[in-house]
Amino acid sequence: MTDLLLLPGDGIGPEVIAEVRKVAAVLAPDLALDERPFGGKSYDLHGEPLTAETLEAAKSAKAVLMGAVGGPKWTGVARDKRPEAGLLGLRAGMNVFANLRPALCFQPLADASSLKREVVEGLDFMIVRELTGGIYFGEPRFIETLPSGGKRAVDTQVYTTAEIERVARVAFELARGRRNKVHSAEKSNVMDSGLLWREVVTDLHKREYSDVQLEHILADNAAMQIVKNPKQFDVMVTDNLFGDILSDAAAQLTGSLGMLPSAALGEPGAPGLYEPIHGSAPDIAGKGVANPMAAILSFEMALRWSLSRSDLADRLFAAVDKALASGARTPDLGGALTTAQMGDAVVTALQA
Ligand code: ATP
Ligand code: MG
Repeated sequence: MTDLLLLPGDGIGPEVIAEVRKVAAVLAPDLALDERPFGGKSYDLHGEPLTAETLEAAKSAKAVLMGAVGGPKWTGVARDKRPEAGLLGLRAGMNVFANLRPALCFQPLADASSLKREVVEGLDFMIVRELTGGIYFGEPRFIETLPSGGKRAVDTQVYTTAEIERVARVAFELARGRRNKVHSAEKSNVMDSGLLWREVVTDLHKREYSDVQLEHILADNAAMQIVKNPKQFDVMVTDNLFGDILSDAAAQLTGSLGMLPSAALGEPGAPGLYEPIHGSAPDIAGKGVANPMAAILSFEMALRWSLSRSDLADRLFAAVDKALASGARTPDLGGALTTAQMGDAVVTALQA
């Protein structure tokens, strides 16, 4: 059985995934790896960004680690054959409904944030975003022309008890392994779906997670607090739309896109999908200067959340911190190391 399926994808994807391979060979040589073309690469080879075989391989692996997909080469391709369609198909096919986006500040990079050092130093919180429901998927949705000649557009926010409960459960479980605190963000003051969200989270908390500290927060206030005092948060759970916005805001607290991993989880025991939050970065692809840390930290999350190897995850996290402390910097962090040299710095720290 495959432990980790690698889908390097396009652009800088293969460059950063190569560094994950290097790190894995040292940290976890017993791990069973597999690798398949995905996105534009798969389209070029098979006419499909995600083949049925690749989806099957993803569903039967313990975890999937993706690089990035897309690029200018495929912009003319039919919408349903584009690399990005392959990613949506993979998420849907794997039924990963909880998106974990850490906002964390590595000590050696505390000055790289646009915020003051004291606001971000030691920052470590996790946004859990509902990923497969809400207003991005709700029906009806349409744009119609009115008799007046003007237009009317409709999107619909839909959430069921089951959808809210399963993502809240992920947040509570996470919090138990962290600082035991969950903030649930919604707009229950103006939205019925927000009211249901609050009710379901409150009920689940009372029934199964009363040991965890729960606070409800309105999403607009959450946005303000993330910028003002982000260290008050441990785990924040929220819907698809608010999570999209809040997680991007939180990501910017800590500097480069090249440092940030993510995970998308489904039901307990089902494989998780891990990927750096950055894209295929066509502007730097092929130059060997991409920062591989986001991909390496995505691997760290896979070890922790899908492969039951938190011992190795801890070692890897410490090695990344150590490499940064030793001054290892790719150009996005103001340094001059190549992608491969940054990977080497992590390997060196692992071996020290
Ligand atoms: P997508 O639509 O796929 O998210 P995007 O254009 O929004 O792509 P990225 O591809 O992530 O965003 O690139 C945004 C900018 O950040 C680019 O200038 C890119 O070079 C830079 N960037 C992204 N990832 C990295 C990385 N790992 N290392 C260094 N720079 C990066
Ligand atoms: Mg983007």
